[in-house]
Amino acid sequence: MAKEKKKERKQMQISSLYSISGNKADRKNRFCSKCGPGYFLAKHKDRLTCGHCGYSEFIGTDTNSRTEIKVR
Ligand SMILES: [Zn+2]
Repeated sequence: MAKEKKKERKQMQISSLYSISGNKADRKNRFCSKCGPGYFLAKHKDRLTCGHCGYSEFIGTDTNSRTEIKVR
């Protein structure tokens, strides 16, 4: 059996979620509405997901922008 190297997971940099303009920090992502401030929704190509509780919002890519909420 060949040994498989474990891929090291790159840790997400919190600073990448903020953009600094002047002396103000703007949040790029939204907070989770279930977990509250401090828990960002991760951006995927078609949805926003909270890694903490599994809450996800689908971003409408169809003709009309639909928003579905699915909770794990
Ligand atoms: Zn959450």
